[in-house]
Amino acid sequence: MAKTILELNGVSRSFPAGDEQLTVLKQVNLRIEQGEMVAIVGASGSGKSTLMNILGCLDKPSEGQYTIHGQDTSTMDDDELARLRREHFGFIFQRYHLLGDLTAIGNVEVPSVYAGKDRKTRQQRASGLLTRLGLADRLDHKPNQLSGGQQQRVSVARALMNGGEVILADEPTGALDSHSGEAMMALLQELHHDGHTIVIVTHDMHVAEFADRIIEIKDGEIIADKRNKNTPEINHLPSPAPAPKRRINWDRYTEAFKMALLAMSSHRLRTFLTMLGIIIGIASVVSVVALGTGSQQAILKNIASMGTNTIDVMPGKGFGDRRSGRVRTLKATDGEALKHLPFVDSVTPSISTSVTIRYVNQAVSASVEGVGPEYFRVRGYQLAAGQFWDQQSVTSLAQEAVIDSNTKKEMFADENPLGKVIFLDNLPVRIIGVTQPSERAFGNSDALKIWIPYTTVAGRMVGQTYLNRLTVRLNDNAPSSAAEQAIISLLKMRHGTQDFFTINTDTIRQNIEKTTATMTMLISAIAVISLVVGGIGVMNIMLVSVTERTKEIDVRMAVGARQNDILRQFMIEAILVCLCGGICGILLAYLIGILFSYFGSNFQMVYSVTSIVAAFLCSTLIGVLFGFLPARNAARLDPVEALARE
Ligand code: ADP
Ligand code: MG
Repeated sequence: MAKTILELNGVSRSFPAGDEQLTVLKQVNLRIEQGEMVAIVGASGSGKSTLMNILGCLDKPSEGQYTIHGQDTSTMDDDELARLRREHFGFIFQRYHLLGDLTAIGNVEVPSVYAGKDRKTRQQRASGLLTRLGLADRLDHKPNQLSGGQQQRVSVARALMNGGEVILADEPTGALDSHSGEAMMALLQELHHDGHTIVIVTHDMHVAEFADRIIEIKDGEIIADKRNKNTPEINHLPSPAPAPKRRINWDRYTEAFKMALLAMSSHRLRTFLTMLGIIIGIASVVSVVALGTGSQQAILKNIASMGTNTIDVMPGKGFGDRRSGRVRTLKATDGEALKHLPFVDSVTPSISTSVTIRYVNQAVSASVEGVGPEYFRVRGYQLAAGQFWDQQSVTSLAQEAVIDSNTKKEMFADENPLGKVIFLDNLPVRIIGVTQPSERAFGNSDALKIWIPYTTVAGRMVGQTYLNRLTVRLNDNAPSSAAEQAIISLLKMRHGTQDFFTINTDTIRQNIEKTTATMTMLISAIAVISLVVGGIGVMNIMLVSVTERTKEIDVRMAVGARQNDILRQFMIEAILVCLCGGICGILLAYLIGILFSYFGSNFQMVYSVTSIVAAFLCSTLIGVLFGFLPARNAARLDPVEALARE
């Protein structure tokens, strides 16, 4: 007497239908013995597929008990049921249900991927099975390159991959022509002789005739159970060996990774559109940060060129004070007094006025600044040619001028300006020096500038004895706010009142640093929003893709994938999409930087490693965050959902 392998005791299955329950299987009792070939026949809608799904652990009975090899299935969780499917069953469906992205050999391999077999063993066994089923020359064909009969043979090979102790075939010939159908039945008979237990569901009595035992089902009840022939002496299949534990996980990761790549490459446009949100988001975050850093550095460099750590003293209460013109108390002697403060490096007075410069037949307007000999040190100017004038020139009200490079370009073009005499309004001055071009943050950098001794301006041009400005250069490392206070109190003492105000470049620099940092934060926040929108886009498309791929997921579950395997596959896919999007985004940001400097901006975008690493992490995180929901939905799908619908 053969051993009972599958046993149903009082199994019922009902589905909710509106307010009521539709009972599809009613108190079914059934034993199937090892090595039997059983056909379950009945009209369409009689409950055959429902019974088959319960036998294959794709579905659970609503009532009653189902045991496999004496193990009760009712207490098992989803993963244990998946293990039973992997180890004991092979499924053959009417519509083959092969995975369209995989080749024949790839499809056959799937069950053993989830069983944790290594790659080489898998491929050998898969190609061996396909060769045995006459598909040796079709190993690398995709399902849509195969005929119906060939596809069904691939699905038989897949059913045998993990041993196929019990083969469950739901209308295996339903989609085949009669010739291929007969070949399929002959193949199943052959497997039966090899020792496989075979259960076929069919509505076709002719197909059922191939089996040894025919069970007739009507409205969910077994109405006949007759043995056609005696079960022949059969070979015994070796029981399936439990899979090795150690390498399973790693292998499943690489498989999930490969599947994700495959899914991405077979839907390139969709993948790209999914990535687009991430690409734009990452590119904008990275380039905004680079732009912020670049502009900040450029501005700070300009401030540095203005002379390190200077304090300007000007008459009045502040910029725009209309009375400041009448304040005449700021004198050169104030500068002399300030020079004695311990932290002061140098001081220069300044009186400025606007003039028309004339040279030969040219006349242009320019600003003339009357300054002291230390001015050039205070402001950090370097000479390109000639020399600066000295204290002697100041004392003698010398008519000597230093011009900047703009003025040289404008007035002298290719000529050497040194020693030439120009007219400032009516005052002739001789040019003794030309400064190097400098990048200035404040004031118009295109303006023409001419410097002559302040005494010359005061005595020969405007006839005033008071100054427009005193600029103090502090020693390096001098505390600038304390110095500012000391200067204020000294001048207050000398003037008796505070009729002046000060501007500290250090304070300006701090303010600019703060302002650009705030701006960068602000724009980054906007860019982050676009990143989040991109993430939601990924989630949206992944959710749709789960729905679209229900069949694929169901097939994977039918051949033994655990919920975790499915979760992992979709998570990896989401993370990969986001990561690729992140990389493209970073590349795009670099491209923007190149274009930016190519189309003549006066500063460079500065990419920080931090922002790129952050972008990377960020896109991975988005993948995890927004991939989780779709992946979980996929893992929670009921394996029977799509397979049952033909
Ligand atoms: P067969 O395979 O014999 O043609 P099925 O077992 O597929 O029949 O279905 C039997 C009955 O159960 C049908 O009336 C069908 O509408 C119903 N049925 C099957 N699956 C479901 C389900 N998931 N929800 C509701 N009704 C179902
Ligand atoms: Mg059916």
